[in-house]
Amino acid sequence: PGGQDEEVGKAQRAAAAGEDAGGQPTIFSKIIARSVPATILYEDDKCLVFRDVAPQAPVHFLVIPKRPIPRISRVGPQDTELLGHLLVVAARTAQAEGLADGYRLVINDGKHGAQSVYHLHLHVLGGRQLGWPPG
Ligand code: C5P
Repeated sequence: PGGQDEEVGKAQRAAAAGEDAGGQPTIFSKIIARSVPATILYEDDKCLVFRDVAPQAPVHFLVIPKRPIPRISRVGPQDTELLGHLLVVAARTAQAEGLADGYRLVINDGKHGAQSVYHLHLHVLGGRQLGWPPG
């Protein structure tokens, strides 16, 4: 009850605080609110998992917190449990997606990390041999 409005409100406050490079709630807040479509793989009260719209591997999905933390470099001790939860959900969803031969978790941060959406997200990529190092 009121959850989606609350999340959008938080995103707007984060944007007002200058944490969102675009100055607006990100596209991910709209996916959480279901005003932008996405192929959703998993959802609970703390996070949402959906397929990346521009997949870079046969399996490529994103794990995002519903609370719109803008980027990994902005997290604090209060986020420890949530961040652990995102990792556990990423691993469980990777298993459900059949990635038994392994996969990669990626978090891009800021300009040098090539972050484009300022709502924290874990990329999970798999289904082919990945190279190292990344570009
Ligand atoms: O880590 P970075 O911010 O660069 O990644 C954002 C990701 O969000 C991209 O992989 C992009 O394809 C994805 N995206 C999406 N659905 C949208 C907008 C972006 O899956 N509607």
